[in-house]
Amino acid sequence: MLQVNEARERLLSYFSPVQSEMIKFSDALGRVLSADIYAEQDSPGFSHSAMDGIAVRSADISTAGKGKPVPLKIVGKIAAGDHPGNRVGSGEGVLIMTGAMVPPGADAVVRVEDTDLDFSKEALPSEAQVVHPVSPGENIRIQGENYNKGSLILNAGEALLPQDVGMLAMLGKETVSVYRQPRVGIFSSGDELIEPGNPLSEGQIWNSNSHMLSALVKSCGSQVVDLGIVADTELDILSAFEQLIEAKVDLIITSGGVSMGVHDYVRKVIEKHGKLDFWKVNMRPGKPLAFGKYKGTQFVGLPGNPVSSFVAYTIFVCPAIMRLAGKREENERIEKAVIETDFFSDGRESYLPGTWKVKGKQLRVTLTGNQSSGNLYALVQSNCLIKIPAGVQLLRRDSIVDIRKKY
Ligand code: AMP
Ligand code: MG
Repeated sequence: MLQVNEARERLLSYFSPVQSEMIKFSDALGRVLSADIYAEQDSPGFSHSAMDGIAVRSADISTAGKGKPVPLKIVGKIAAGDHPGNRVGSGEGVLIMTGAMVPPGADAVVRVEDTDLDFSKEALPSEAQVVHPVSPGENIRIQGENYNKGSLILNAGEALLPQDVGMLAMLGKETVSVYRQPRVGIFSSGDELIEPGNPLSEGQIWNSNSHMLSALVKSCGSQVVDLGIVADTELDILSAFEQLIEAKVDLIITSGGVSMGVHDYVRKVIEKHGKLDFWKVNMRPGKPLAFGKYKGTQFVGLPGNPVSSFVAYTIFVCPAIMRLAGKREENERIEKAVIETDFFSDGRESYLPGTWKVKGKQLRVTLTGNQSSGNLYALVQSNCLIKIPAGVQLLRRDSIVDIRKKY
């Protein structure tokens, strides 16, 4: 049986980014850049005032403050968006608003608070008294002080955050090149499954997996084609695969029907009509994972038990979708914690719902709830997955384990 790492490497080797497309920058939230973004101008593009005040020649007011204000002749006013106007001469000042271009001749801005002026009045005063000196360059944002024309601003492979969308606008980009969103086809197989909202008969349960998987895929920024529940017959499952091929999905994920049961047809359909690459991974939960291809489209068959489905998705499918989406690989968010109870394992690499807390200076972790792979409640209550390495049979309390914080 394949170990988790071998299976993961093998599976991931089949995935590469989908094509890219040009979209409006304002529609790009969450999308993954397919090309680096460079600045085409300096930032700021022109030197401007960081304050409301008076643009001055700093040498003129060097004596201000020592109990004796320095008078300046006010020769104009510049608001944000205005042209900078005339040169500021010796003994002169120009009223200037935040964001306005610094006029020629001035080398600093005195804050309005450091003068006798009242900016709530519209009329241009003829004179101002300055009570505090400024150093050359003070309260001026110099052209190019943030970054220069040609600087690399955003990297290909990054999913755009709200502040990145603002950055694109600041750069004056109208369109950006992003990867197309991958399309992921999903269905749940099982004759016992009923959609929520409908009453259950004896022996039936509500379908949770395709909804959870659909939410997982969407939260990775991909599109979902969800066929819901598919009956446990070869024909129904085959026709579901066909529908997803017609829908031109980039990946098919299923839940259920990959174990040893008489009615577990998903894997059998792939074996017969597609190509099975591997089946079963030495992990817990999630052992009966199936991987293969149907008519040129990669397929991952996740086990039906909801916690198994979640864990196998997290370890195998999520990184595969990241590759399809063109996202740069991130380091796994693994941390070390001290386990608070003895723990018996069966030698499989395990990912178990756990609860971590900081106690003193330590991160301490316990197993959460009933650890049945059917118990989604334990996963919901937990705040991490505890990783138990392959080969471990007994872990003594106070041993160090790896945890993946919520998720
Ligand atoms: P299977 O992998 O089909 O043998 O299913 C294993 C267990 O998971 C069984 O108890 C199923 O009833 C349950 N199960 C399968 N599919 C789902 C689903 N979509 N939602 C919730 N439970 C499921
Ligand atoms: Mg089943």
